[in-house]
Amino acid sequence: MLTRSQLEALERRSLGPYAAFAAESKGRAYPEPEHPYRTCFQRDHDRIIHSSAFRRLEYKTQVFVIHEGDYYRTRLTHTLEVSQIAGTLARALRLNPDLTCAIALAHDLGHGPFGHSGEDVLRTLMKEHGGFDHNLQALRIVELLEERYPSFPGLNLTWEVRQGLNKHRAPLSPVRFPKIVNLSLEAQVVDIADEIAYDHHDLDDGITSGLIQEEDLEAVALWRQVRREVIRQFPRRSDALRKHQIIRRLIDLTVTDLLQESTRRIARFRIQNSRKATTLAERIIAFSPGMKRLRLPLKAFLNEKLYHHYKVIRMADKARRFLTALFESYLRSPKQLPDTTRGRLKQEDPHRVVCDYIAGMTDRYALKEYQRLFTPFEPV
Ligand code: MG
Repeated sequence: MLTRSQLEALERRSLGPYAAFAAESKGRAYPEPEHPYRTCFQRDHDRIIHSSAFRRLEYKTQVFVIHEGDYYRTRLTHTLEVSQIAGTLARALRLNPDLTCAIALAHDLGHGPFGHSGEDVLRTLMKEHGGFDHNLQALRIVELLEERYPSFPGLNLTWEVRQGLNKHRAPLSPVRFPKIVNLSLEAQVVDIADEIAYDHHDLDDGITSGLIQEEDLEAVALWRQVRREVIRQFPRRSDALRKHQIIRRLIDLTVTDLLQESTRRIARFRIQNSRKATTLAERIIAFSPGMKRLRLPLKAFLNEKLYHHYKVIRMADKARRFLTALFESYLRSPKQLPDTTRGRLKQEDPHRVVCDYIAGMTDRYALKEYQRLFTPFEPV
């Protein structure tokens, strides 16, 4: 059997000198005894999987609202794809894969129902009351809102995982740690893996849904180039198979470029310990200038043809209307809130309590709740 200290020793031998080592973690806000056979980052990874916020990702929107179809990505499958890509990158770059995957699994916990339109609504409604941001909400969930342990609130994750979620670098408790200029290398990996995952799965879902036409993509050089290769290699195959082949090659091409460029940068910026990258303004985990240029038209395409497609806007607008109605209804009469949530009204601004409650909802729950509150013949 491998013990925790043997695993920590293995990290010393297998990871790069610039990786975050579990044995050097700055630890947890509430000190706890170490686990006999899991490192602190493995334990954080597991705590996130067992949290209720993680399970709720299954019924939260990525781009397509859940009842639009069963094939599309949800916030959960998006998260798993980010974790897969980030884990591959971390292992190839000799970074800490346990820390990387823990950050990846938690990176979207703070998203409310209905994706970005849900976030926009909450941001508007909370404008005068401290604001709303899904990154900060993820921190709020792991530090405060999850209730699983008798002696502390939240999940009591290590400083490294919380700092990885802290994209805006707000001060973290305890505040004795130095302020950092940039994310750790592991967190930079997750940030860019998130982008790689959504660009490609949104492309995939966009084509499956019929909102994006493959012919329109011919205007995008990167797509055109890979599509030609695939057709040359597999002529006369079905559209669906061709699409999968194009997308998997696009991901592979993108990830490979990222690995090569990041390896160059680790050498060029002489990154010899994990702290160094957090002191530089420049990102170390980055695409080559050529790939960055090639990816721009793809991102512009998605923005125009998918994220601003009238059907996507309709989904977003509908969400905006009824999340606002829910928010106002709870605020007018907070007694409608369930007991555990209502208890928090004693210490906190009702706006924040209502915002946390709505942000925690899945799409399904929010829709059901709307019916319960506003449809006269629906049981409450
Ligand atoms: Mg994400």
